[in-house]
Amino acid sequence: MSGKPVLIRDGLRIDGRKPEELRPVRIALGVLKNANGSALVEYGNTKALAAVYGPREALPKHISLPDRAILRVRYHMAPFSTTERKSPAPSRREIELSKVIREALESVVFTSQFPRASIDVFIEILQADGGTRTTGLTAASLALADAGIPMRDLVIGVAVGKVDGVLVLDINELEDKYGEADLPVGIMPNTGEIVLLQLNGVLTPGEFKQALDMAYKGVEQIYKTAKEAMYRKYYKIFEEVR
Ligand code: ADP
Repeated sequence: MSGKPVLIRDGLRIDGRKPEELRPVRIALGVLKNANGSALVEYGNTKALAAVYGPREALPKHISLPDRAILRVRYHMAPFSTTERKSPAPSRREIELSKVIREALESVVFTSQFPRASIDVFIEILQADGGTRTTGLTAASLALADAGIPMRDLVIGVAVGKVDGVLVLDINELEDKYGEADLPVGIMPNTGEIVLLQLNGVLTPGEFKQALDMAYKGVEQIYKTAKEAMYRKYYKIFEEVR
């Protein structure tokens, strides 16, 4: 019934953006009182909240590791996050996304500093409009930083897509649904290392390279906003103790 909408008109996207333009990015740290670290990240209408607990005693005890902390990640879409009905029970998709996000974060957290402990990361998607895994990944890495967990770098996520034959940065839900390809990536902004990369659809080798270049440029911009958010939080603490 639903026909594919025109995704590029006069060089602009369905939401008026240029191909290489991000949605407005908003980031706030320390938004939850009870968690050891937290962050709220918005890429346009996609909103992700992350909460971190730990390092704390790993329970049940048999899951603990003698030489490092275990990292547990739960990615979850709130039942009210989509217009479609969404079951509150964890879906196969949510289990997969929890795994790929955990693997991305394991690349940056110095887990060997906390043997037998667990570090628990909860990602709750409050509103979904495409790119929830990448928004959630950015939120998780910032919540870990907010919890004071030693890390090699942050991880910033962003997805590049191909819609109506054009490569576009930071795709929204319609672009994800009706586009030809979707390339979500997670990048360490200081080292440039890639810690998450998935490709849904088909890109030529040339398009793939161009899409990665776009992702790096997007990550640089999101990282700037993340640094401003961290600065705001620590400046506030500095003012309070002064
Ligand atoms: P990502 O959110 O990382 O882009 P997907 O490509 O699986 O992951 O999903 C694309 C978009 O489709 C999501 O951002 C969300 O807007 C929508 N979506 C995903 N799962 C559901 C669901 N169970 N119900 C309704 N919408 C969903």
